[in-house]
Amino acid sequence: MTRDVAEPCIFCDIVAGKIKTEFIYEDDAVVAFPDIRPIAPLHVLVVPRDHHATLAEVVTTKVGPPLLGRLLKVAGDIGAARASKDGGYRIVINNGAAAGQTVYHLHVHVLSGRHFAWPPG
Ligand code: AMP
Ligand code: ZN
Repeated sequence: MTRDVAEPCIFCDIVAGKIKTEFIYEDDAVVAFPDIRPIAPLHVLVVPRDHHATLAEVVTTKVGPPLLGRLLKVAGDIGAARASKDGGYRIVINNGAAAGQTVYHLHVHVLSGRHFAWPPG
């Protein structure tokens, strides 16, 4: 999916290497890097290289299901490798402003290392 190049996208800049971060995982479709404002001892973002603004935008497309499978596979692998000792971790996708989405480039949060309340705030 393309985006209006006049519209800046911070995660496109990270994928392109214009904003430096440490990729803790990368392949041809997906990168993962630490969240700049972590809300848990482990807080990693799993991000597709291609720009898709939201889950809702990509889920009905042809590329949606395989891409979402790859994002969740990477998120699960990171959780398995880096979660706190009890093995607990939380996977979050915020879709839209009401759900707390602030960066409009699809991403999966992987969170671990503290207790997470349910229901979430
Ligand atoms: P969301 O609220 O689900 O859209 O999550 C966006 C996340 O991106 C937030 O947790 C931010 O802290 C994080 N974030 C914003 N800018 C950067 C950046 N330059 N590098 C890493 N994480 C970022
Ligand atoms: Zn983007």
